[in-house]
Amino acid sequence: MDVKKEIERLRKVIRHHDYQYYVLDQPEISDKEYDDLFKRLQALEEKHPDEVTPDSPTQRVGGEPVKGFKTVRHHRKMYSLDNTYTFDEIREWRDRLGKSLEENEKVEFVVELKIDGVSVNLMYENGSLSAGALRGDGEAGEDVTSNIRTIRAIPLNFFDGSRSRLEIRGEVFMSRGDFLAANKERLENEEPLFANPRNATAGALKTLDPKIVAKRRLLFYAHSLGECPAGEFVSQKDFLDKVKSWGLPVNLQTRLYPDLEGVIDFCRRWQEKRNTLDYEIDGIVIKVNALDQQKRLGVTQKSPRWAIAYKFPAQQATTKIRRIDVSVGRTGVLTPVAELDPVSCGGVTISHATLHNFDEIGRLGVHEGDKVLLERAGDVIPKVVKVLSRGPTEKKRASYVPGQCPSCGAGVVKEKEEEVAYRCVNPLCPAQVERRLVHFASRAAMDIEGMGEAVVQQLARDGHVKDVSDIYRLTKGDFLKLELFREKKAQNLYQGIQRSKQRPLSRFLFGLGIRHVGEKAALTLAQKFGTMDRLMQASLDELLSIHEVGEAIAASVYGFLHRKETAALIEKLKKAGLEMKEPPRHASSKLAGKIFVFTGELAGMTRPEAEDLVKSRGGEVTSSVSKKTSFVVVGDRPGSKYDKAVKLKVPVLDEEAFRKVVQEG
Ligand code: AMP
Ligand code: ZN
Repeated sequence: MDVKKEIERLRKVIRHHDYQYYVLDQPEISDKEYDDLFKRLQALEEKHPDEVTPDSPTQRVGGEPVKGFKTVRHHRKMYSLDNTYTFDEIREWRDRLGKSLEENEKVEFVVELKIDGVSVNLMYENGSLSAGALRGDGEAGEDVTSNIRTIRAIPLNFFDGSRSRLEIRGEVFMSRGDFLAANKERLENEEPLFANPRNATAGALKTLDPKIVAKRRLLFYAHSLGECPAGEFVSQKDFLDKVKSWGLPVNLQTRLYPDLEGVIDFCRRWQEKRNTLDYEIDGIVIKVNALDQQKRLGVTQKSPRWAIAYKFPAQQATTKIRRIDVSVGRTGVLTPVAELDPVSCGGVTISHATLHNFDEIGRLGVHEGDKVLLERAGDVIPKVVKVLSRGPTEKKRASYVPGQCPSCGAGVVKEKEEEVAYRCVNPLCPAQVERRLVHFASRAAMDIEGMGEAVVQQLARDGHVKDVSDIYRLTKGDFLKLELFREKKAQNLYQGIQRSKQRPLSRFLFGLGIRHVGEKAALTLAQKFGTMDRLMQASLDELLSIHEVGEAIAASVYGFLHRKETAALIEKLKKAGLEMKEPPRHASSKLAGKIFVFTGELAGMTRPEAEDLVKSRGGEVTSSVSKKTSFVVVGDRPGSKYDKAVKLKVPVLDEEAFRKVVQEG
């Protein structure tokens, strides 16, 4: 085999699939198949280091951390956008345009989603990415080239296309799901949460270690043009179409309208359905299409005259704080929570808002009875932005840090002076037990259906349940004593608990809520050790030698496993019949090479159970339908994946047919 040719071939194939995935949104292969290609290329390059070129897909995860960022000048200034908040203001803008152009001159408009991300400037020279920078003050911004190079959605080379110097601007952003995952990870590591996806993205882009940036799945859409030779493009639409064909992702919702009515209709529609996207948008950008008209209209100090942003009404509301409560988390951290007069905000009713920590109360100067402004950013827990007016302040504005745990009365401490969090010191604290149980039973952990907050609260309150092993002692009779429980519900919960005994070790480990052990670390540990017994015997060095396990995780796991209480807990769980085993990754390979996508609710099993079934037989589960999908399993109330399956003629299975396929392979 000609190695050089094979390496080139693999690179080409990988670039093709990046394009299918990021630009066309039509993946042709599964993530697994992609990873395999990637690993093959990596292996070949390792053997032949001379063949490694900087534009190889493997070189995206750059080497050394950077030492602070240099500032670079943009070749053309990066402008901000003027904002409008009403459709009338958009019409006024259109009238102003008319006055600057010829009488009755036709104007076409391009409308684009205004993505709530971070704007970056990319320089392509001879079709290769040579630099990437943040906007900064518009004239110059931080040089974040090494971080930008880790973003798979940004091509290092054009497929073909312009060979001149081109500055292309666009938005780097994060999906809602990845944003939530990033925050979950921070919560587990007890780091402060990101307020919104934009902050999370900015945080990633400004990280000094490109390896860390590469871990965040950052996305990108090109939306604006910087420096470029005259005549390269004739319009915004032309620009978007061309760069798309060269390999840059552009947003697929973009539309061209011959007049303002279509534009306004587009704004109205997206305002309604902004929450259906899996990334955040905060408005619509309206641009004059023809570049020659753009040039004649010109720019002001701060923004182009030929474009304008229509900003959606903020998802804000005002209401009164009834009380400031303190909630106790599963590690004992005390979090102040505002109980509110219920109010509607961005389409949902809100009755609680987080105050993050006790410093925040002081910073906001908030007090019970105050009228406050609330804000809801996507799926984030609503937060208090500021105090609008003071309530009758009879109560002293004392610190809200309780002297003792509101749940168990135990002492409250700050572990380290520099920490902002206060904790309850009692590991048997009922509130902590309750949080731990909810986590243990949650979907991503042991997935015990019917064991949500309300049920757990009652179980913990009555003192039936003090740790997770206690739930396996409960009988149907115990459940019948709970509020609103009848025969069937009690039976279901009982069965759900019994079934959870067979859950893989990875889910169990995650469910234990060991500090720093998220789903991923749990899976790594489970796959490495296979059984709980073997994991319990692991030395600290052995834990540290696992590639994906860092010092914090290793120390936390080791410490947890070697506590007296842990040994006792595991012993009890073993007696109760828990397996605590990780099935070999491909216990059976009946479904090897088959890719499943699920949509809608299944009646006889939960989604995670169905996914485990497929995976345990060597099959794969992905989240979007493509031509490569083998089956789309359709439950009750399916979503758009069903339509896509029909469109692409992918075989569709109902629940019964799915069971057959899984059983027969
Ligand atoms: P603002 O930050 O409110 O001044 O809005 C201007 C910013 O909107 C730009 O700097 C871009 O980062 C961002 N933006 C998001 N989507 C687009 C788009 N389709 N076209 C232009 N700018 C956009
Ligand atoms: Zn307590």
